[in-house]
Amino acid sequence: MILTQCAVCATELGLSLGKKCGRCSTRYCGPECQKQHWEEGGHDKLCKLIKKAGGAEQYNANKKYAEAVSVAVAKCADDTKGQTCYICTQALHWKTKEGLVRMCACRGTAGFAHVSCLAEQAKILNDEAEENNLGRKVLNERWNRWHTCSLCEQMYHGDVACALGWACWRTYLGRPETNHARQCAMSRLGNGLHVAGYHEDALSVREAELSLLRRLGADERNILVAQTNLASTYIELGRHEYGLRMRREIYAGCLRSYGEEHRETLVAANNYAVSLKLNSRFDEAKSLLRKVMPVARRVLVESHELALRLKKIYARALHEDPGATLDELREAVTTLEDTVRIARRVLGGAHPLTKGMERDLQLARAALGARDVEALRVGAMRV
Ligand SMILES: [Zn+2]
Ligand SMILES: [Zn+2]
Ligand SMILES: [Zn+2]
Ligand SMILES: [Zn+2]
Repeated sequence: MILTQCAVCATELGLSLGKKCGRCSTRYCGPECQKQHWEEGGHDKLCKLIKKAGGAEQYNANKKYAEAVSVAVAKCADDTKGQTCYICTQALHWKTKEGLVRMCACRGTAGFAHVSCLAEQAKILNDEAEENNLGRKVLNERWNRWHTCSLCEQMYHGDVACALGWACWRTYLGRPETNHARQCAMSRLGNGLHVAGYHEDALSVREAELSLLRRLGADERNILVAQTNLASTYIELGRHEYGLRMRREIYAGCLRSYGEEHRETLVAANNYAVSLKLNSRFDEAKSLLRKVMPVARRVLVESHELALRLKKIYARALHEDPGATLDELREAVTTLEDTVRIARRVLGGAHPLTKGMERDLQLARAALGARDVEALRVGAMRV
């Protein structure tokens, strides 16, 4: 369930608490809220509609979907003026009367479409692959239509990704909880909300997803993916302690599941170090990275983006620590000089990672410079 609150007073009900309307499954914290909703909240009129739509979860998803489509269409309005849908060839959708969207790498007159047409196409392609048992590989390719433009092969961004997330969820939510497509749809919705920046909404979806996977006893690797997504939502919301706790758990899980040399484990270590630094736990970040960087050196080439990221966060943990020693500040500067040189060569000067590291290098040099001045002053006083 994504709806985890009382429909009247918003008390958190988790996945199974509370009292359900016997007809439409809308949930309440108890009989009082249910009674109030019926008598004053308009539920006497809505109940039938909700039941007809397939219950509270479906009704909510349909409503959210329609809202997300209007937002996406409005955001794309300047770009889509005078264009037509490449799927149905119309400007206005014949049934929903919705306008067009385009949020991918398509340019010129290519790639304009209705969210409804994109969603219908994705649904038909996936249904066909399921019905004809076309195999995991084909299913995965077709699943991409829920998040990636078939023309330019770039993932949709912003509110189009969000609207397609709701489209996907409302398509599969009626299936049993153990159904693979339903689980994928839930994580697609979480990702769509995340990409569009609706982090509060993403949080409730991702929490629901993780607890569902745990309840079903899913494979640890699937749980690790869900945890990784949830941790990044915590970070987006500024809940750094939650993020840290989860990333510590993820790193331990990756060590267990994949071993220390696996790419996933190194990514998890990098994320964990970022969270340690965000929580000003510099010593822990440094000692983690001193353990992980030699492993990265063994399994990644020096110019690998992940290797660069690990060094970047290590240097930041060194020079942002208020208790850093002079040697640590010097080490931060030399580490960054080294990585900036590699990044310029491999990624180019315009790459955000290169630019970020150049900024870090300036800050590290400034910290070292300030310390040198101080050391000189202290030295002069001694003389
Ligand atoms: Zn209530
Ligand atoms: Zn009802
Ligand atoms: Zn269309
Ligand atoms: Zn495109």
